Amino acid sequence: MSKNILIVGTGLGGLSTGLRLASRGYKVTFVEKNNQAGGRLNQLKKDGFTFDVGPSFFSMPYEFEELVKDCGIDMPFEFVELDPLYTVNFRGSEKKFFLYKDIDKLSEQFEGIEPDFKKKFTAYLKKCEQLYNDTVDITIKQNFNSIPSYLKALMQVNPIHLPVLIKTFWKQVNSYFVSKEAKQIVSLIAFFLGRTPFDTNAVYTLLSHIEFSNTGYYNVKGGMYTIVTSLVNELQKLDATFIYETEIVDYQESNGKLTSLIDQNGKKWQADAFIINADAALFRGTVFNRKKYAPKKLSKMSWTMGYLTFYIGIKKQLKQIEHHNYFLGNNYEQYAKDVMKNPGTLEKPYYYVNAVSKHNPGCAPEGCEALFFVCPVPNLLFKQDWSDSDEIVKSIIDDFSARINQDISKDIVFQMVYTPEEWQNQFNLYKGAGLGLSHDMLQIGAFRPKNYDEKFSNTFYVGASTIPGAGLPMAVISSKLVTERILNYE
Ligand SMILES: Cc1cc2nc3c(=O)[nH]c(=O)nc-3n(C[C@H](O)[C@H](O)[C@H](O)COP(=O)(O)OP(=O)(O)OC[C@H]3O[C@@H](n4cnc5c(N)ncnc54)[C@H](O)[C@@H]3O)c2cc1C
Repeated sequence: MSKNILIVGTGLGGLSTGLRLASRGYKVTFVEKNNQAGGRLNQLKKDGFTFDVGPSFFSMPYEFEELVKDCGIDMPFEFVELDPLYTVNFRGSEKKFFLYKDIDKLSEQFEGIEPDFKKKFTAYLKKCEQLYNDTVDITIKQNFNSIPSYLKALMQVNPIHLPVLIKTFWKQVNSYFVSKEAKQIVSLIAFFLGRTPFDTNAVYTLLSHIEFSNTGYYNVKGGMYTIVTSLVNELQKLDATFIYETEIVDYQESNGKLTSLIDQNGKKWQADAFIINADAALFRGTVFNRKKYAPKKLSKMSWTMGYLTFYIGIKKQLKQIEHHNYFLGNNYEQYAKDVMKNPGTLEKPYYYVNAVSKHNPGCAPEGCEALFFVCPVPNLLFKQDWSDSDEIVKSIIDDFSARINQDISKDIVFQMVYTPEEWQNQFNLYKGAGLGLSHDMLQIGAFRPKNYDEKFSNTFYVGASTIPGAGLPMAVISSKLVTERILNYE
């Protein structure tokens, strides 16, 4: 059994894998290019304000429960269930939709908007639940050794779902609802996968089941970064070592095995087995120089959208918003069709606002609010010049101020902006694509970059661009799958 493990990257996938292995007696060392752990699940602290940098809620908390059980520890952080899940505001309308999990409370809001909403939504959710039950264990929670074995597994999926597989998310939602409000609200979740309802397969409507019926969404007491600090703490109790400001740029191999990874200062890092938590496609291309992931090939793969995120501290509290808020425009279809590729969409952007200080008062000085904005934008394949980012941010702040009837611009005491350039440079995300590789049918399961290396028998991958995909629960599942591989590795 290999004892010394080197993990490149301290994203949630890396930390969870490290914890599973350290709790089994492995000696785990992390090397991380940044000066703190977490990857995209990060934190920004400045002038008395604390912001979650990326993820602001998660589903499937049972995956974290499985993780801690597997490691024989108690849950080191506290879940906070969201209800309402979030609010949705449409440009030009005073009405605010509260997305309650209770179907009666939710349906009340569609009175006079979507006839028979409750009946339609119940039927829609039933189909989503069937999809979830019939696919999740087969396609998401398994390691596949070959494309034929993956295809064989897919054949076990109930054939009643075949018609769904040839539809888009949007088409599926359209077959249940007639009003723009219901269609847009129900399909919004496709954006959480880093694409739009118009280019996301209808099989992902199973996410609506997770969102409304299965688990809903959760925050963590103290802010999302508590997940990272508590996992790091558990790892340190098990003697794991964290080395920061260390970026792996090269490697050495011998006899089909990786012998060392080399950092930016030429220092060699040796181990019995290596786990790459950096992007599984980009790392193969840039560090291992694999032809399949050469720059031209990478640019032809399908990537998720970029995000323009900004973090502002204001010296007022905002009663008009909740913890999680979506602000949509009134050209959804056109917007969604353009947002991945057309910088013109940024004139009237759609955006999400998180007020972390609403439920975590420690995240802002007294009487202040910490706000985190996320705006979907083209990644660097489609927009390279971000010199206009301040203008875009100003337009969003103006739009937000108008919609909440309060000019917040004069109350801003702290502001930090991340364009896809910052996302790329800080976390080595290919072209700043926020969620990594997209989840097209030909980029999931056995078609996604594998969680074991094609050439080095002692090298494995975990995280968003290997299996099963993006999002916090998927990172935890990814850690389970790669751990299985490592435990079987001699
Ligand atoms: C704006 C935004 C909002 C999001 N919101 C949500 C949400 O609300 N809910 C949700 O579930 N998910 C959300 N996600 C997705 C979620 O953040 C990711 O899927 C998840 O955090 C990815 O974890 P990972 O294990 O792949 O590692 P990553 O977070 O990608 O971490 C990889 C680490 O490897 C390091 N690294 C890379 N290359 C090297 C190298 N060569 N040498 C050393 N270190 C290296 C990086 O610095 C990084 O720390 C969001 C993502 C973004 C960008």
